[in-house]
Amino acid sequence: MNARQLLRSRPEGLYCPSGDFFIDPVRPVERALITHGHSDHARAGHGAVMATRETLDIMGLRYGTGFAGRMQEARLGETVTVNGVRVTFHPAGHVLGSAQISVEANGLRIVASGDYKRSRDPTCAAFEPITCDVFITEATFGLPVFTHPDPAHEISQLLTSLKQFPERTHIVGAYSLGKAQRVIALLREAGYGETIYIHGALARLCAYYEETGVPLGPLQPATVEGKADAPPAGAIVVAPPSAMDDRWSRRFADPLSCFASGWMRIRQRVRQRGVELPLIISDHADWDELTASIRDTGASEVWVTHGREEALVRWCELNGISARPLHLAGYEDEAE
Ligand SMILES: [Zn+2]
Repeated sequence: MNARQLLRSRPEGLYCPSGDFFIDPVRPVERALITHGHSDHARAGHGAVMATRETLDIMGLRYGTGFAGRMQEARLGETVTVNGVRVTFHPAGHVLGSAQISVEANGLRIVASGDYKRSRDPTCAAFEPITCDVFITEATFGLPVFTHPDPAHEISQLLTSLKQFPERTHIVGAYSLGKAQRVIALLREAGYGETIYIHGALARLCAYYEETGVPLGPLQPATVEGKADAPPAGAIVVAPPSAMDDRWSRRFADPLSCFASGWMRIRQRVRQRGVELPLIISDHADWDELTASIRDTGASEVWVTHGREEALVRWCELNGISARPLHLAGYEDEAE
């Protein structure tokens, strides 16, 4: 059996013919294995879904409990056989519940990493490199210019700004699954004990993180229907990026716009979004993490799913690793 017989790309996503399942399909299929809860990877309407407990719960929160015909919980590190193919989920360090999926048959192992990162994140289990023959990686930040700083440094910039501008409400744009909770947890690690105000779109996911044992400290809704009282001046408000641009954010006292994203490395994006305080905090691997992870797996072949494929494919070739882009459609790298 060669690697392309074990896994191949189809319009729906990565497909395993002998196991008859897809990984992170972008269209409804009979059987889906899902790496994590971000909406471009985890879609509703599959016949059966296998994912970690947290990913299943997150899908339930987002889509309602009937999001799939059947659900099967995958425990990290536990191998199950799907139509003769050995399948194991391993932590990916991306968001709560995120996993890499190892697919194995006839002595050949392919690891589909989904989205992943190696930098510190108190809200999820850390990435574990898995030895494999073929490593499938994304390349959202697959250019050497992308080096993410220590997230603790970015958080200290935010706390410094709060001291400098104690009357201004610091509104932090952060994606609602993963980034928002990570920013809050990092603020707590840095000793920030004040109430943090959250946009309504974050409430259920923040509550779920807390339920699973990720402490986020005192949180309050940033706005309450029919009530005029706003967070006090100098508070931190966390909101999804979409709320940053509209009237919602202008109700706060002299708002100072912050945005937590790997894209904040790019000055043009900072300007375009009118961000005053960019925080380079990413839930995706930067260039050094991508190349280190490829090396750590010992893979002799690399498939690149989405992002800036060319540079990473070239790096692999220069390092004696065969590589090819998969050109999978339907995954977003903006939502970071
Ligand atoms: Zn993701």
